[in-house]
Amino acid sequence: MELFDTHCHLDFPVFDADRKLLIEKSLENGIQNILLPGVKKEDWRVLRMHVALNKPLHAALGLHPMFIDEHTEQHLHDLDMALNLPPVVAVGEIGLDFYDRSLDREKQESFFRAQLKIAKKRKLPILLHVRKAHDEVLKHLGFLQFTEGGIVHAFNGSLQHAKNYISKGFKLGFGGTMTYSRSVKIRELAKIIPLESIVLETDAPDMVPSSSSSKRNTPVHLLDNFRALCKLRGESPEEIARVTTSNAKKVLRLD
Ligand code: ZN
Repeated sequence: MELFDTHCHLDFPVFDADRKLLIEKSLENGIQNILLPGVKKEDWRVLRMHVALNKPLHAALGLHPMFIDEHTEQHLHDLDMALNLPPVVAVGEIGLDFYDRSLDREKQESFFRAQLKIAKKRKLPILLHVRKAHDEVLKHLGFLQFTEGGIVHAFNGSLQHAKNYISKGFKLGFGGTMTYSRSVKIRELAKIIPLESIVLETDAPDMVPSSSSSKRNTPVHLLDNFRALCKLRGESPEEIARVTTSNAKKVLRLD
């Protein structure tokens, strides 16, 4: 069985002490691929270093909306230049966060649009972070005729949003939220959305699954999320592992 963690911040310093061990444990558990999304320019170099040193890791580079205050116009130019140096599999994570009202909306939209244009020019898929802004994100994707697809990380929209993203070539990321029985809406979506549109993720070190006693999430917990998805779905675990992994590889052009 082979699994793919499509969203894991394994480059963060909180993993400095045991990163190697966690990668080994992930491999022992069938988690053969882990995608690390970039969040700000100053972190990209270290992220790339970890990816270069560890075969299961893949790099995405981007300017995350939650750090909007730290990004500058120069960083957009730097992103475009950084993508010249392979291997980078996606632009991300990028998007709009209208849940946190302290974040400048206008600047978020401007940086999102600029990064969409860069991804389009580079023919790269994107990793989306979206909170309370699915209509706006879909509007920008349509307006810029973005057709490279990507992954909507920690999907939290409606079924209509899901269908709209899927029609634009996106896969929807499901993670630790599925493990909580109170997450009625997300569990229902994970149950009814076609398996061909679902990818698994941990969002480590965030989004700890319900079974974990630790405050820090790790890529090894992808297994908990996988098991939660299996309980919700009718397909066999083998089928769910095979299809979700193949979905991730297809959308990231790794197959
Ligand atoms: Zn993230």
